[in-house]
Amino acid sequence: MIYDSIVVGAGLAGLSIASLLSNHGHKVICLEKSNTLGGRARIWKKDGFTYEYGIHVLRYGEKGACGEVMRRLGVNDFKVKKLNTAIYENGEFYNFSSGGLSSLLSMNFLTNKDKAVFIKELLKLTLTNIKPLYDVSVSEFIKERGYSSGLKKIFESLSTSMLSCPDTKIASAGELAHHLRNVVHKRYAIGYPEGGFETIINKLVNKIEEKNQLITGVNVIGLVKENGKIVGVTTETERIYGKNVILATPEGIKGLTGIDYAPVPTSGISIDYALNTDEYKEDRVILTQKVKGVAMFASNVDKTVAPEGKSLLTFFSPRDYYVSPESQKRSMEEVVEEMFPGIHSKVENKRVLNLLVVDGVELTTKQNYYKRLETRVSDGLYVVGDSVKAHGNGGEIAFNSALECYKEVMNNG
Ligand SMILES: Cc1cc2nc3c(=O)[nH]c(=O)nc-3n(C[C@H](O)[C@H](O)[C@H](O)COP(=O)(O)OP(=O)(O)OC[C@H]3O[C@@H](n4cnc5c(N)ncnc54)[C@H](O)[C@@H]3O)c2cc1C
Repeated sequence: MIYDSIVVGAGLAGLSIASLLSNHGHKVICLEKSNTLGGRARIWKKDGFTYEYGIHVLRYGEKGACGEVMRRLGVNDFKVKKLNTAIYENGEFYNFSSGGLSSLLSMNFLTNKDKAVFIKELLKLTLTNIKPLYDVSVSEFIKERGYSSGLKKIFESLSTSMLSCPDTKIASAGELAHHLRNVVHKRYAIGYPEGGFETIINKLVNKIEEKNQLITGVNVIGLVKENGKIVGVTTETERIYGKNVILATPEGIKGLTGIDYAPVPTSGISIDYALNTDEYKEDRVILTQKVKGVAMFASNVDKTVAPEGKSLLTFFSPRDYYVSPESQKRSMEEVVEEMFPGIHSKVENKRVLNLLVVDGVELTTKQNYYKRLETRVSDGLYVVGDSVKAHGNGGEIAFNSALECYKEVMNNG
């Protein structure tokens, strides 16, 4: 049998492209090497708690790429809760944003003069060509604009939280500008899907399985080439033929294709605290520069992720290579205790993840959108996932790459 499309990998990108093509009527097979679905967005359940793999939020909520995938699939019960953000600084929480200019104006962290400069900058970024900024670092951008220390902090926090790249000397100002521009246009910064990412994964899986096959425990070890064209894949036990092969294995592109493409990913430490209390009512996403990171009580946004009377807090910090993972973890715990005094005595279960790959590509000037691998590699061979040429960061790139790939497959057969 010859499939229309073989999709390798069942992370967010693989599940998205497989469900889009399946929905279009393609004969699709999706192969996943592990026994779990969702890749780096997979969930884990223990003692009534549902843990995301680190904090998982959606850029622009349902107005982002995931929402677009759901719309194209005809899924009309996909709901996302808009999140507010706050900055933790000097023992205080300051409102930051939920998206749109008006919410940015409510930031009580900045002086009125800083706010005026920030709004002017956002309007400028919205109205001008930002392409040249992709090769400029965030710190060069801040320096060139002569920003105050308050505005510098805002840009540093955004670089940490929205680009997962705390080192502003390498983070791309264009990538950040693109995001800020979307926040203003869409009036939406981030959201959390009802039921968490498990809902997204289930909806995509259901769509594929309505008409096609999704097989776990299958490791694809090579590509089949005939007359110079990719015509299938090799697994450990067989050859499978297809008109299109779509690799949704962002870390495996180089190994499977031989193309010299292996961008530097982001890495980080994530700590989950399953708490025996629900006394902490904070429902904003907290950005902090003290230990650069992001914290969120998922259970205060969606009650289904923790048992009644309990709660779930996650703190994520991009890896700081100037200190050991152990010392970074200790500093993270100190900040959590400072923000929420007494919290460590209420921990029922703690999960610490030291992750070498968080987002498939770090959004630096060297790996910016314009320098990444196009989704169509050659006749019949495509790549999707969070390391290729699509807009966003992490999951947003994964979903956008699937939308790009779908367009290419439709155009090229
Ligand atoms: C701690 C953490 C926090 C994050 N927070 C966010 C967030 O808040 N928002 C956001 O948008 N993103 C976030 N991300 C990033 C997001 O999880 C990823 O961008 C996204 O899941 C990547 O999806 P993908 O399909 O591109 O790749 P992957 O999830 O890596 O999927 C690839 C799949 O391919 C399979 N595979 C690999 N090789 C083979 C093979 N040879 N044969 C068969 N199968 C194979 C793998 O097992 C895997 O299932 C976070 C990631 C982490 C780790």
